[in-house]
Amino acid sequence: MMDLSRPDVPLQRTRTGRQRISVLGATGSVGGSTLDLIARDPDRYQVVALTAQSNAAALAEWAVKVSAAVAVVSDPAAYADLAARLHGTGIEAAAGPAAVIEAAARPADLTVSAIVGAAGLAPSLAALEAASAVALANKETLVCAGRLYMREALRRGARILPVDSEHNAIFQVLEADNVSEVAEIILTASGGPFRTVSRADMADVTPERALKHPNWTMGRKISIDSATLMNKGLELIEAHHLFPVTPDQLKVVVHPQSAVHGLVRYTDGSLLAELGSADMRTPIAYCLAWPERRPAPVAPLDLVALGTLTFEAPDRTRFPCLALAEAALRDGAGAPCVLNAANEIAVEAFLDRRIGFLDIAAVVAETLSRASRAGMMREPAALDEAYALDSEGRRLARDEVVRRAT
Ligand code: NAD
Ligand code: MG
Repeated sequence: MMDLSRPDVPLQRTRTGRQRISVLGATGSVGGSTLDLIARDPDRYQVVALTAQSNAAALAEWAVKVSAAVAVVSDPAAYADLAARLHGTGIEAAAGPAAVIEAAARPADLTVSAIVGAAGLAPSLAALEAASAVALANKETLVCAGRLYMREALRRGARILPVDSEHNAIFQVLEADNVSEVAEIILTASGGPFRTVSRADMADVTPERALKHPNWTMGRKISIDSATLMNKGLELIEAHHLFPVTPDQLKVVVHPQSAVHGLVRYTDGSLLAELGSADMRTPIAYCLAWPERRPAPVAPLDLVALGTLTFEAPDRTRFPCLALAEAALRDGAGAPCVLNAANEIAVEAFLDRRIGFLDIAAVVAETLSRASRAGMMREPAALDEAYALDSEGRRLARDEVVRRAT
């Protein structure tokens, strides 16, 4: 849980007053939005490290634009391309998973962790070593090893700033001195592209249709998670680690306009919410400026143009992934890690057209029950245990994908 008792002292600055910043997952959707903000305000930042998986062209372009000290691709096959593109710029190039971790551990005032999937776990952990604060977008880190991660953050004295829009909203409206007066925390869900689609019609939806999110532009994996509502389930687990509430105090409400991002209900009946446009640059800007605020190039939410805000209960029969994640949240220990591993495999298989949309939940459910029968669900106490559980969960899920693939 977040240590809300710590005074909100401004983040450290370099002697020149510039904020030293690293972006892990720099070529992604969140990484790109972060770099867009940095590039608009270059005097404010000193960019330390940028990392990506294999897109050397996009990484090198950003590295030059924001004058990064080092750029790293995790895929060694992309090294030659990266090094050639950075030749003569003075920007260091490196490659391989260990180099990503080394870059993540370079001293910075703020490290933005925006790698997708459990692959972000080790770099997010490394970032705690040398950053005064980590702006965490990589929700899978908290899902796989939340207890371990938050404990390590506390031990290292690193602040975790939530980037995920719902958690950022709650972070903004949660008052540090009255957490005992919180009755519940409510995450909103857009409902995704299939909010009104029957289960029968979901059976043969294509990846293209599932990737078309009504309100947000995001990476492919989180877009599919939004279509299955697994994203909201992962976010409940994420919220449980970030905020001092029990699973029973965490609620989901479907809100198709995505104007309200998160709400806190206090015991006196007050419901405090954060509203804004569906643009990740608002929560990212909040993390960059925290505990202050800075202007962001985001279209203001026009309440009159919006006219109506609607809310509905999530349908766990049509969206069983939400119920599976809620059960994993309640079961705790290793269940969220296995849930996440199975989901990553199932989403990848759906995107590759090896299984259907409804098979995603089935693969996750079957993997969880096989893992449970095998007695695998122990809480990971260290990074290697989290990775071992993750890879065991992936192995079971791959078997299930093969069984279902036609
Ligand atoms: P994305 O797919 O657009 O980008 C992912 C980034 O991670 C890329 O830079 C990619 O090169 C890098 N990457 C992927 N696999 C890697 C690996 N094995 N090793 C090292 N780097 C790797 O994803 P995204 O939509 O930006 O999401 C990033 C994270 O933020 C996810 O955990 C997601 O759930 C979370 N998030 C995203 C949004 C959003 O609006 N996109 C909102 C809230 C939370
Ligand atoms: Mg979110």
